[in-house]
Amino acid sequence: MPGPRWQRTGDLPDSAGKLGLGHAGNATALVSYEHTFYTDHMRVEYRMEPCKSALNPVRGMPFRWSLNPYMGCVHRCTFCYVPNFERRADRPSDERYGRSIRVKTNVADVLARELARRSWVRDEVAIGTATDPYQPAEGRFRLTRACIVELEKAWTPFSIITRGPLAVRDIDVLLEASKRVEVSVTFSIPTLDERVWRTTEPGTAPPSSRLEAVRRIASAGVDVGVGLAPILPGLSDRREQLDAVVHAAKAAGARGVWAAPVHLRPAVREHFLAALARDWPEHVTRYEELFAERAYLPSAIAAPIRERVRVAARATQLSERYRRTERAREREPAQLSLVV
Ligand code: SF4
Repeated sequence: MPGPRWQRTGDLPDSAGKLGLGHAGNATALVSYEHTFYTDHMRVEYRMEPCKSALNPVRGMPFRWSLNPYMGCVHRCTFCYVPNFERRADRPSDERYGRSIRVKTNVADVLARELARRSWVRDEVAIGTATDPYQPAEGRFRLTRACIVELEKAWTPFSIITRGPLAVRDIDVLLEASKRVEVSVTFSIPTLDERVWRTTEPGTAPPSSRLEAVRRIASAGVDVGVGLAPILPGLSDRREQLDAVVHAAKAAGARGVWAAPVHLRPAVREHFLAALARDWPEHVTRYEELFAERAYLPSAIAAPIRERVRVAARATQLSERYRRTERAREREPAQLSLVV
């Protein structure tokens, strides 16, 4: 398999150059965050498709609105549940979910109009419920950034969940927004184990880069936490592995941590098991048994995992933080069909 390489996000199509390039602050500081992780054989299609609405109403969740500037995610995590409901909605799923990215080119303008409505009551908006808002495309298109600016102008609280260190680029607007409204950023960092990371999150930045992003955002004064999600039994659930993430989160300045054991819906399960057979064949039988007739781990396995993280959080005086967006992402994907 070709080795990984780092590539400038500037190599992406520049058709959105008019979307606000150049207002991101210190260019020198940004250089290392304007890179992304690709493999040589990766081919990504970016589809410039304006949206009719930006805010998506959500039912049965702790928040009422979600926002996703992109659809599809080049991070291509083997456990990602989103392709499951993308397929049900007849949108790009499976491999296409990671290789065909919809760029909602007008999302910030549409959002501004929606936030200006007299009926808008400034409910919290959850960003990143169905795709990563700081995936590589954001380095070029800056749609997440533009949406943050609009939310701040409209005094609307928001939360972000991401695996993308690129969020550091937006410290300036995050800080400005957090002076007005409640703002939180959560980095998903399920493990520091290099092999587990490489094989299960093939398109994401290294955990160390995400921790550095936590450090920078926390140092700037923005509320930031770490989500250990998903935790994979047999791969990333050993006490020392979980302790390592929690301690690293604490050292980086996170305010809290939370944990979510993996769940595998149909279709996602097949995709995950295929990757497992390729990279961790010795675990296939156990996972087939665990998820043969259920999407969620039995509590006899899930509860001790959560407890391990809880104990580590207490020991490091981190809050066991379960903010709205994170809780939602742990929930039933069917409910998230309205979250895109
Ligand atoms: S970063 Fe999130 S949305 Fe993107 S592939 Fe991974 S789990 Fe899915």
